[in-house]
Amino acid sequence: MSVGVLALQGDVPEHLKAVEAGAGARRVVPVRRPADLAQVRALFLPGGESTTIARLLHDSGLWEPLGTRIREGLPVLGTCAGLILLAQRLERARSGRDPPTLGVLDVVVRRNDYGAQTESFEEPIRVDGLDGGPFPGVFIRAPRILSVGPAATPFAWRGEEIVGVRERRVWGLAFHPELSDDLRLHRKFLTETVGPG
Ligand code: GLN
Repeated sequence: MSVGVLALQGDVPEHLKAVEAGAGARRVVPVRRPADLAQVRALFLPGGESTTIARLLHDSGLWEPLGTRIREGLPVLGTCAGLILLAQRLERARSGRDPPTLGVLDVVVRRNDYGAQTESFEEPIRVDGLDGGPFPGVFIRAPRILSVGPAATPFAWRGEEIVGVRERRVWGLAFHPELSDDLRLHRKFLTETVGPG
């Protein structure tokens, strides 16, 4: 069994590179079709444009099987646009359209809530149970986590603000670990959800 990166749109090459570097001996494969999804035992949803990724998930026939596999326990780490797609519900964005969501992570988020691309920033993030100090959090037109429901647990903070949440084996991050050189979060996710690699 392999580890997959959803490869429909977004920062797929960066994510493949980070997962390959952080996945130890596990094989890393791009997921574009239902047959690819069937081979993986964990999946990363990259950053990108959530409306486009949602449309491509439908067009490729991945939407239904992806939701089913996640509900059956497939470990998934979604970053930024990935977090949006996992969310239980979206609060209407101030501008632009909102995509449908898979509704598998008990959070309400709002797209693009940290401002435009030009207002991107990097800040240290406190992550529960992560050795080695704060994590470099890269925020690019990031979604804001507005509320966390009872099924989910916050585990990453920017100051007082929640920027990472997990519900069983579904993890969602408002920032982009794949755009820093720090592999600790990818490794932690795989070790905790899939086991040692
Ligand atoms: N703003 C994007 C969206 O709504 C997410 C940005 C990102 O993934 N860097 O899909």
